[in-house]
Amino acid sequence: MSLAVVPEHSAVPQEIAALLDDLVAKHRPSSPVGRVPPAVPHLADADPLGFGIAVASVDGAVTSAGDADAPFSIQSISKLFSLALALGNDSGGMLWNRVLREPSGTAFNSLVQLEAEQGIPRNPFINAGALVVTDFLVECLDDASGAVLAFLRALSGSERVTVDGDAAATELASSARNCALANFLADFGNLHNPVDAVLEHYIRHCSITMSCRELARAGLFLANGGAGGRGSRGAGGVLSAADTKRINSIMLTCGMYDAAGEFAYRVGLPGKSGVGGGILAVVPGRCAVSVWSPGLDAKGNSIAGTAALAELTSRTGWSIF
Ligand code: GLU
Repeated sequence: MSLAVVPEHSAVPQEIAALLDDLVAKHRPSSPVGRVPPAVPHLADADPLGFGIAVASVDGAVTSAGDADAPFSIQSISKLFSLALALGNDSGGMLWNRVLREPSGTAFNSLVQLEAEQGIPRNPFINAGALVVTDFLVECLDDASGAVLAFLRALSGSERVTVDGDAAATELASSARNCALANFLADFGNLHNPVDAVLEHYIRHCSITMSCRELARAGLFLANGGAGGRGSRGAGGVLSAADTKRINSIMLTCGMYDAAGEFAYRVGLPGKSGVGGGILAVVPGRCAVSVWSPGLDAKGNSIAGTAALAELTSRTGWSIF
């Protein structure tokens, strides 16, 4: 079916339900595809044939298909919410002295660039940048990872959103590379709190589990100029319109690891992915879309999720380009 004509009065047309069913039928893997990341052991437990998708409209409705209620590990998608929380607490504009806003062109956990660039990470979505953001939260909040969790519960309107403590413990036990990044940052004076504390809060917020429906609702403020979605406890202003615009632009240029250009080419939306197989994409003024399927490509992005989003924007005309 084609949705070439989107009614003016409705942010998301009724036909979206049939389209999402169609995407599930076409893109759910029939056998395991891609890989799961070795650095995060518990992700190997996810169902390789899992596939869910949800669209949360600025009008308040959430439409979904497939395994859209199945909780999954959001991993790097949490970096988006920790950044939003940090910007909301950064009245002095200090954070942007410590992290840049440029694509890195290297792997998300690379050490090389950090050394060459004197401990200033290229952007808040690579691991080094997210560690700086977490450090900022550790400085200004009592419980940084607890605050990210509370933020996501409020935005999604769901108490089911939780930190998977076992997953966090296994990741912490195998986090030599993130530990190296944090020590580099500390050595350059760009980490203000003890490495162990920052790492633990970072890994705990990466280990938050939620479903596609919950994640789409949580991301709605990004489609809505910073206002929370109707029905969520975040309603009434989550972030300023200016910071919301900035987060969307960093998602577009840096949100998909070293494949942001390819994602812009195929999908044409600001997006943030995680190695748990989730992607959150934003259609400004219209909706937030969350998709999940665990098999990853070589860059760390969900293979089936990216393909489904590419087809979604082709059929709806929702690309921003
Ligand atoms: N917890 C993972 C790590 O720090 C997140 C990776 C990701 O989703 O990009 O390596």
